[in-house]
Amino acid sequence: MQIQWLYCPVCGNKTRNKIRDDTVLKKFPLYCPKCRKQTLINIKNLKTTIINEPDA
Ligand SMILES: [Zn+2]
Repeated sequence: MQIQWLYCPVCGNKTRNKIRDDTVLKKFPLYCPKCRKQTLINIKNLKTTIINEPDA
């Protein structure tokens, strides 16, 4: 089992969230302290995918 920091998919900055290698997230509002905004993401197998939603 592996735990690692979750990085902002927009700027690559380390966020305050950690994920496990078996963590699955759907439509998770990831907050980045550098971008100062939330990005809606999916996470599976340590892979982050940005969700583009109108008016998110
Ligand atoms: Zn960012």
